[in-house]
Amino acid sequence: ATPTALMVGTGRGAQLGILIKGPEVLESTRKVDTIVLDKTGTVTTGRMTLLAVHTGDNAEESEVLRLAGALEHASEHPIARAVAEGALEKLGSLPTPEDFANVPGLGVQGVVDGHAVLVGREQLLAMGVPPLERSREWGRAMELPASLAHAKSEAEAAGRTAIAVAWDGEARAVLEVADAVKETSPEAIRRLRDLGLTPILLTGDNRAVAESVAREVGIAPEHVIAEVLPQDKADVVKRLQGEGRSVAMVGDGVNDAAALAQADLGLAMGTGTDAAIEAGDLTLVRGDLRVAADAIRLSRRTLGTIR
Ligand code: ADP
Ligand code: MG
Repeated sequence: ATPTALMVGTGRGAQLGILIKGPEVLESTRKVDTIVLDKTGTVTTGRMTLLAVHTGDNAEESEVLRLAGALEHASEHPIARAVAEGALEKLGSLPTPEDFANVPGLGVQGVVDGHAVLVGREQLLAMGVPPLERSREWGRAMELPASLAHAKSEAEAAGRTAIAVAWDGEARAVLEVADAVKETSPEAIRRLRDLGLTPILLTGDNRAVAESVAREVGIAPEHVIAEVLPQDKADVVKRLQGEGRSVAMVGDGVNDAAALAQADLGLAMGTGTDAAIEAGDLTLVRGDLRVAADAIRLSRRTLGTIR
């Protein structure tokens, strides 16, 4: 009866929009007691919009949009898309960067119209980042002037993500972007809890934004792990496993594929990247987080049939 039960399980899974990598996956669903949820693209839609541009007295809004928009146009990050789209809407066209590099979990750097440009977290400005070939003056730490630091904390208190823009060695603007929580997320988290799982929100974004999303979906502030760099997300999963937890992880593969692979049970959002689908044990085809709970319930039930 074993192979039949598995086939029924996976067949029903396909109907629900769940792809299961192999029968051995089912076993891990029984043990998991903790579920780590990546914020951007998993709990939130990942479709961000540019809401505001705050400029310092050393920059014009149109130049901020031109330089930041051009650089972000070369990146696939949801924040980058929001900035590029916002800039294109205002300006109609954008120059092509002469040089570009992605700094995972922090932002982007490059050269636009001869200017050495940085767009991303404040930490990226503080790092001064290593030189790109055609840039002039990297390696110098920059900080936000008081007016921009103020705009940044106001934005974050309102649950928005604040992105810094700098060029030629000076911080010049703060961009506000925001992303909406998926309508289905609060219910998904309730269902996961009903299965006895502890939901944990994991993100590279800042604490204030992360806590505001957590509040909206019903995750306690002590279960928010924020400001985690992409390469450290897998370590967070490892640390939770070290505490004796059996960990499921849901992600879209943008900066979290290694964590998906590290988890006892990796669930990939089908709306995410190919890297997610490769790293995951289960794929949620429609990107609906409620299906994560369905997937775990279904495979536990399938196991029940087998035993
Ligand atoms: P999450 O963990 O929520 O999926 P990421 O790890 O992808 O987020 O990114 C963490 C943070 O790094 C973002 O909140 C943003 O502040 C910054 N960042 C990453 N990529 C970019 C980019 N292309 N442009 C601007 N900021 C970025
Ligand atoms: Mg992400």
